[in-house]
Amino acid sequence: KHFPIKRTIGEILTRVPQRFVKAVDGVSFEIKKGETFGLVGESGSGKTTTGRLLLRLIEPTSGEIIFENVDITKLKKEELRKFRKNFQIIFQDPMAALNPYMKIGEAIKHGLEIHNIGSGRQERKKLVMQMLERVNLSPPEEFYYRYPHELSGGQRQRIVIARALVLRPKFVVADEAIAMLDVSVRSQLLQLLIELKRDFDLTFLFITHDLATTKYICNKIGVMYLGKLVEIGGFKDIYLEPLHPYTKALISAVPEPDPKKKKKKIIPKGEVPNPINPPSGCRFHPRCPFAKDICKVEEPKLIDYNGRKVACHLYK
Ligand code: SF4
Repeated sequence: KHFPIKRTIGEILTRVPQRFVKAVDGVSFEIKKGETFGLVGESGSGKTTTGRLLLRLIEPTSGEIIFENVDITKLKKEELRKFRKNFQIIFQDPMAALNPYMKIGEAIKHGLEIHNIGSGRQERKKLVMQMLERVNLSPPEEFYYRYPHELSGGQRQRIVIARALVLRPKFVVADEAIAMLDVSVRSQLLQLLIELKRDFDLTFLFITHDLATTKYICNKIGVMYLGKLVEIGGFKDIYLEPLHPYTKALISAVPEPDPKKKKKKIIPKGEVPNPINPPSGCRFHPRCPFAKDICKVEEPKLIDYNGRKVACHLYK
């Protein structure tokens, strides 16, 4: 009443700094059907932005996102809406992802209604019950009429998984999906994701800051640093023989359960630079223990190297 909308917007615009961050730059990778591709990196590396771009939850300014030969960046609003059931996302915070005023069963059923799956109320309810059981929330009747706040964090995340998978998607982005849970619940949820991936024939993009978790679920790993992909390789290659100095540092920080095995720690210098003004040349150069003069001026390209991909001047 007291602040006309125009004035409020004007005020907000004048207060917001007019600077744009290229959160993801020149990132290109391929995920094969049935694969689990792990995208790892510190916070601010652009991995979450990449996951959201793939589902067009954020509009890319340029580039292509090809899914089953369709460039989804070209889809119009209505085509995209129909296409959406093919790909789903599981967010980090289940409490924020669920409507606190909606009963669990209704929240899962809502997606079925939007995408017109199931022939009526009863059939949709049956599909929801089956899905609740499949994510080990049993007996399902006990969960269907409850609200999110009546459940534990692990149970809420199972609901989010059920809501995504009841639509029978082909591609799922799990964005730090188990990061907020207690350690014991985390391993149960990881096991559940592995089983669901197998049973539902899913393809996964598994986004995490914790390289150790990728060991259990990922076939392939992509390592991101300040909005760039710096290395891509099979899980074993990355884990046993990392190429990029940043990947080496990440691997050396993973705790080694066997006390007899000694690991050489590689600790990058300083803090992660501000993504608003990334360093010239190789973005990792101010922190890299192997940096050469060329690294400060020339950006390394992501090149093929012995069947893997790496962006670093140490490899030609
Ligand atoms: Fe280090 Fe240079 Fe390789 Fe960058 S390009 S990771 S600075 S050696």
